[in-house]
Amino acid sequence: MASVKMRNINKYYGDFHALIDIDLDIADGEFVVFVGPSGCGKSTLLRTLAGLEGSYTGVMEIGGQDISKAAPSDRGVAMVFQSYALYPHMNVHDNMDFGMKVNNVPKAEREERIANAARILQLEPYLDRKPAHLSGGQRQRVAIGRAIVRQPKVFLFDEPLSNLDAKLRVQMRIELESLHKQLGATMIYVTHDQVEAMTMADKIVVLNGGRIEQIGTPMQLYHTPATRFVADFIGSPSMNFLPVLLGSSEGSAPVGRYGETEIRLPEGVQGKASGNITLGVRPEHLDIAPADAGPEVGRNGRAHVSAGALGGTVAVKETLGGETILYVDTREGDRVTVKVDGDTAIDRGTAVTVSIPFERIHLFDAGGATLTN
Ligand code: ATP
Repeated sequence: MASVKMRNINKYYGDFHALIDIDLDIADGEFVVFVGPSGCGKSTLLRTLAGLEGSYTGVMEIGGQDISKAAPSDRGVAMVFQSYALYPHMNVHDNMDFGMKVNNVPKAEREERIANAARILQLEPYLDRKPAHLSGGQRQRVAIGRAIVRQPKVFLFDEPLSNLDAKLRVQMRIELESLHKQLGATMIYVTHDQVEAMTMADKIVVLNGGRIEQIGTPMQLYHTPATRFVADFIGSPSMNFLPVLLGSSEGSAPVGRYGETEIRLPEGVQGKASGNITLGVRPEHLDIAPADAGPEVGRNGRAHVSAGALGGTVAVKETLGGETILYVDTREGDRVTVKVDGDTAIDRGTAVTVSIPFERIHLFDAGGATLTN
């Protein structure tokens, strides 16, 4: 297994600049997820590493070896596609065998690798079956098995679970995580699903418009997003954003205004920005109470230091069982999402006070860069 290094990777499709100045280091054995909205370049970056895209500039290394110009088969990578790409006329055994045969791996060695992969992926009962007679999850396992028997230095997964139903996705996600632990392999995984990214990754690479927006562990991205884009993309439901006008109070603690509401802001923010900024706060960090109950005690009965208390009315209540999502229309005309316990007594139409815990606020300048990390 091996580390991956990318330096200054740039890729064009005609005039379109699909990958812009990509620098990335992946450690041996790491599980790295490329995440971002549709069209941000996730698949292009993965395919470029696999050698499946045409020309690009920059340097790529796997295990310290420069593979920038190597053919796909000489890069030591194996890719698992969303579409599975199995051979329909071959049974499971032969699907796994084919690539090794082409590479002249001796028969005994091939059989040992197939048996090992079938055991790990629980495919032993299906070795004689053709893909048409397998479920979606089993087909995906065969595609993964085909990658395992190649004994690659790096596994590449391109949205491998997106053709599976929600329940099977969760199951396969857990299986992939345990496969990663068993093999100790370097794995790179592309998805647009931030829940998959958060749950599976050692390290997440957030892409936006062909550039790397931020790299970090899931919790680093959750707690200290570098930009509004990352803050918006990571976390579910998404972070709330409110326009705040930064005051120019000298000497005293900095304050801003959200409509009529005064917002207490962290020290030092005035040195970094002025005028209109954006306040971000996650739905699960807001406290909500009926307007006549007072804002200082949160939904869990914890007192917190409030940065400000917004007045509003619950417009929509979504009951999910274990948790409830309340959508509050503020007096200023914004809609704020609040995540509370499933059995909240607060109903649609209730006048509420939403309190913003001071220690939970994120601030972003007009360009979207963080002011609070
Ligand atoms: P998705 O989640 O929708 O698969 P992605 O982040 O994987 O998106 P890519 O497939 O990497 O996105 O595409 C990045 C950009 O490059 C897109 O704007 C896409 O339209 C463009 N692109 C991809 N392949 C080609 C191609 N062969 N020719 C021209 N443009 C392309």
